[in-house]
Amino acid sequence: MNNQATENWDVIVVGAGTAGMPTAIFAAQRGAKVLLIEQDTKVGGTLHYSGGQMAATGTRLHKERSIDDSPQEFLDDMRRICHDTFDEPMFRIHAENSGDTIDWLLDLNYNVDPECPGVLMVHEPYYTKRSFWSPDEGKGLINCIAPALMAEVEKGGVDLRLGTECTELLHDDSGAVIGIRTKTIEGAEKTKEETEHDYNGDNVVVTSGGYAANRDLFKKYSPHAHHYSSTNPNSQGKGIKLMDAVGAKIEGGENVIPSYGCVLDDPNDPMCSTYIGGQGNALSDYVWLDTAPQSRQPWEVHVNINGERFLREDIPSVDDRELALEKQPEWRHFLVFDEGVRQNAPKITPFWTNEEFKAALGTHPSFLKADTLDDLANRMGVDADTLDATIHRYNGFVADQKDPDFGRECLPKQIKKAPFYAIQCVGMSVMSSAGVVTDETFNVVDTNGKAIPNLYAAGEVLGFGRLGGHAFIPGGSVTPALTFGRLLGQSILQWRRNTEAAE
Ligand SMILES: Cc1cc2nc3c(=O)[nH]c(=O)nc-3n(C[C@H](O)[C@H](O)[C@H](O)COP(=O)(O)OP(=O)(O)OC[C@H]3O[C@@H](n4cnc5c(N)ncnc54)[C@H](O)[C@@H]3O)c2cc1C
Repeated sequence: MNNQATENWDVIVVGAGTAGMPTAIFAAQRGAKVLLIEQDTKVGGTLHYSGGQMAATGTRLHKERSIDDSPQEFLDDMRRICHDTFDEPMFRIHAENSGDTIDWLLDLNYNVDPECPGVLMVHEPYYTKRSFWSPDEGKGLINCIAPALMAEVEKGGVDLRLGTECTELLHDDSGAVIGIRTKTIEGAEKTKEETEHDYNGDNVVVTSGGYAANRDLFKKYSPHAHHYSSTNPNSQGKGIKLMDAVGAKIEGGENVIPSYGCVLDDPNDPMCSTYIGGQGNALSDYVWLDTAPQSRQPWEVHVNINGERFLREDIPSVDDRELALEKQPEWRHFLVFDEGVRQNAPKITPFWTNEEFKAALGTHPSFLKADTLDDLANRMGVDADTLDATIHRYNGFVADQKDPDFGRECLPKQIKKAPFYAIQCVGMSVMSSAGVVTDETFNVVDTNGKAIPNLYAAGEVLGFGRLGGHAFIPGGSVTPALTFGRLLGQSILQWRRNTEAAE
């Protein structure tokens, strides 16, 4: 291990992902000497995997299209979606500044879908047109932000160090954060050496992302929940651990909420889904089930692992479906149907052809097929008598065209023609809900609620639940990550050289 000399920086940013890139760009544009460190060999973070959907109000596209909306209406709508469980002051900052973030992206030639702003159905939709997306999904954001970052690197304002991990936050006796310690693996394959560096900084901004890929942290912060995930493998919560070590307050694990209708490639491996969210164009071969009745009415019966129905399958609210699943054991459920439904219903896998869907039944480990309902129940691992009773009762509702149990209105066809099918689904968490607490300048606070001098945070490290509360909000992570990073760089962070120059 080599220890290198200490260097001094105005701003140190840990993590060159969604929030880290704008933090570095805007701080450098304001004259800061910025050190941006990234453990990966590339910039972009979770945007390489993300649907990249955003939500904003007051953009120039809103004005051009005469869409009447305001930050206050955005906030009120959010209060409805999350049942008033969010951090309102933080959401207000997001709502008031989201428009400028989209306008900045448009200036950078963001390849926005021409339908934007629109209303999207993947999660509980906003009541008006606030959603933004790109045919290139999250990568569409990297495509426009990374060149802006590299321009600042070229100009010398940002020193970008890839393959470098922050291993410790350095602090003085008063508890103020004064820099970071990093580890870099350098040299050729055979002569690889771990080099340790210390860097001093007036500001340390942790934009290291979430912990959805870390089962231990997920269990630590949300012991009541079940962990199924498909996310950036680098979302290991390293930054949260670093800030925990300097006394940061961490909360919000209770806000975790399962996404509905997600399929695992292997039902025995909770981390192996190819579900990636978003519109699917960039990853057209993954399994995504369309469970929104607005785009496809359900023909299947949804049962839990006890073989019992647990919701009105055609309930219009995505949030209601997610909250219903949250109460089910193991957050697992099945969509049960028969050959008659398969032949007549619209396809439930939007990104598969009919042939791909048919071929998956009985061959994909989550797409079960059997000649009898009893055998299907065995394959599902549920009690055969219970499943039989559930389907028998449902068939009676179809005959009567009335569902007295849950009030389902779409009752198109009885389930009685072999072969029988079940798609096994889980409630997925692609993000982490707990995070560090900050004040309204993103200054991290300690467990006594006191600001830790010089330590700032933005992005998923604040916890997805901070802005979303106990609900899954569309565009609710990418947009605030970009916006809070932008605000930190643009106006919030202050450094000694800057102050001295102003005097
Ligand atoms: C499949 C999927 C779909 C999604 N779809 C959407 C969507 O449509 N809309 C939405 O709003 N959100 C979505 N999200 C979530 C959203 O993309 C992320 O929450 C957001 O991009 C996280 O941004 P971030 O800046 O906090 O972290 P990241 O973008 O993950 O960046 C963090 C960076 O820090 C680096 N890092 C971590 N620890 C260290 C360390 N110790 N030292 C150095 N570097 C470190 C990481 O390698 C990473 O590059 C999705 C997530 C997934 C997984």
